[in-house]
Amino acid sequence: MRLDKFLANAGCGTRTEVKQLIKKGRVTVNGETVKKADMKIDHAAGTVAVNGEVVLYEPVVYLMLNKPQGVISATEDARHDTVVDLLPDYRHYDLHPVGRLDKDTEGLLILTNDGQFSHEVLSPRKHVDKTYYARIDGRVTAETITQFNEGLILDDGYKTMPARLKIVTSGGISEVEVTIQEGKFHQVKRMFSAVGMTVSYLQRIQMGGLPLDRSLQPGQYKLLTAEDINRVK
Ligand code: URA
Repeated sequence: MRLDKFLANAGCGTRTEVKQLIKKGRVTVNGETVKKADMKIDHAAGTVAVNGEVVLYEPVVYLMLNKPQGVISATEDARHDTVVDLLPDYRHYDLHPVGRLDKDTEGLLILTNDGQFSHEVLSPRKHVDKTYYARIDGRVTAETITQFNEGLILDDGYKTMPARLKIVTSGGISEVEVTIQEGKFHQVKRMFSAVGMTVSYLQRIQMGGLPLDRSLQPGQYKLLTAEDINRVK
């Protein structure tokens, strides 16, 4: 992270104020005065001090958000609220969402400032299962289950990995739970589109072995424990 960003996140002032501090030679990294605001510092190693006082490193945090519809899974957006805007208490923690949910998708979203964790969870090689509850305009049958299990060709020609489909209710409108191992853009919606059906509601209910905490209303969040985090990977 850039030194000025780190200091601002740690509550040492605004970006402009901390740049001034750096310019004036008040900031040291591992005992050496540093005058470059864009110097990259390592979260976990080294000591940053302002006016001789050590600035504590921002702790690593992991949150579970029940993402509501209408917000964007990003850290910034020119037009819409983002998931980070829902967490004002964690403004200083430089959080990012671990993967994306569409604007109209609800449910389990993890936010963290641990880039290594996100990288591992999102790595295509890891195949972390993601389970969704979906309402489908169309009749989901045993044949649909087979098609999902065999992998489907999406609109761009990509063949998906095997996905598990469980029928909750089947009718003109079906309810299902679908588990995918990848995270392609709009993947669940595009998989149903590939079998001629439309997703009218989508909610992520589990990542790896970590289920959505049903006591969280859309927009609510909670801190995750180390045990929770270990269930994800
Ligand atoms: N698949 C989708 O189509 N949308 C999401 O938000 C997540 C998975």
